[in-house]
Amino acid sequence: MIARRQLLGALAGAPLLAAAPAYRLQAEPVAAGLWVVRGADAPIAMANGGAIANISIIATDAGPVLIDAGASFAHGQALAALARRLTGKPVARVYLTHLHPDHSFGIGAFAPGIVAATPPVAAQVAGDAAGFSTGLYRLLGDWMRGTELPAPALVAGDGPVVIGGRRLRLLALSGHSPADLAVLDEASGTLITGDLVFHNRAPATPHADLPAWRRALDLLAGLGHQRLVPGHGPVDATPGTAIAQTRAWLDWLEPALKAAMEAGLTMVEAGDMPIPQRFAGLAVARLELQRSVSHYWPALEAARLPRVSD
Ligand SMILES: [Zn+2]
Repeated sequence: MIARRQLLGALAGAPLLAAAPAYRLQAEPVAAGLWVVRGADAPIAMANGGAIANISIIATDAGPVLIDAGASFAHGQALAALARRLTGKPVARVYLTHLHPDHSFGIGAFAPGIVAATPPVAAQVAGDAAGFSTGLYRLLGDWMRGTELPAPALVAGDGPVVIGGRRLRLLALSGHSPADLAVLDEASGTLITGDLVFHNRAPATPHADLPAWRRALDLLAGLGHQRLVPGHGPVDATPGTAIAQTRAWLDWLEPALKAAMEAGLTMVEAGDMPIPQRFAGLAVARLELQRSVSHYWPALEAARLPRVSD
């Protein structure tokens, strides 16, 4: 039998011996001097360390540009190391597409002087990021070690920028979240959309403004790009498939939720409603539907039940 004191001693020693979990990242070539580090097509979980979003790496003469920073300090560090291996240079610039943790919580791995965000995202980092962070620590534990959110020092505006001879067109939009940045690499015709576009994966809507999201999709569809790197899911080699898929889901979701409310379904029943066969190829569709029910339901209920004072 193991003495209690021995057991406690072993437990106390364990954290010193246990290594922090490590991200094993691979870059997939997309176009000349452009790679994507594909996220797991799954929810944030201990098994993936939060590495579920696609992160793009763009080579320039000044060093690589990262589109998004990863989910944690260690993820950001691993992305920086990978970008350096690919290009032989340290990261020159990081653009955040939006504040969701899987895309942006790795910014602490980069000097604030090279991190750029739109003004609303910079304000969010200064404001409500701490709440997000607590939730992520609960989900991911050790993966999150050292994760902090220093304020980005650079402003990402709407329009063209040239970094190390490579011209990028920044598009400051919204809809998936209060502020979403898309980036068009003009040299290769590659459009990097952040979470404005999902591909073969159901869109996440917890902070969505659906009319604004549809307007953003209209704009993206008209850019004349050749291929698209979505926020989640595989690269779209056609210009329009993933954009159309994202729009089709949003167009189905909103009336489907309203109809479920009108039919008197409970939240649980609404989350179990049939998903049309045309969405059978979308990963995590059931989970995203249930998440959408949970955050849209209170507003739908309030809209349906008239206030007594009216
Ligand atoms: Zn997102």
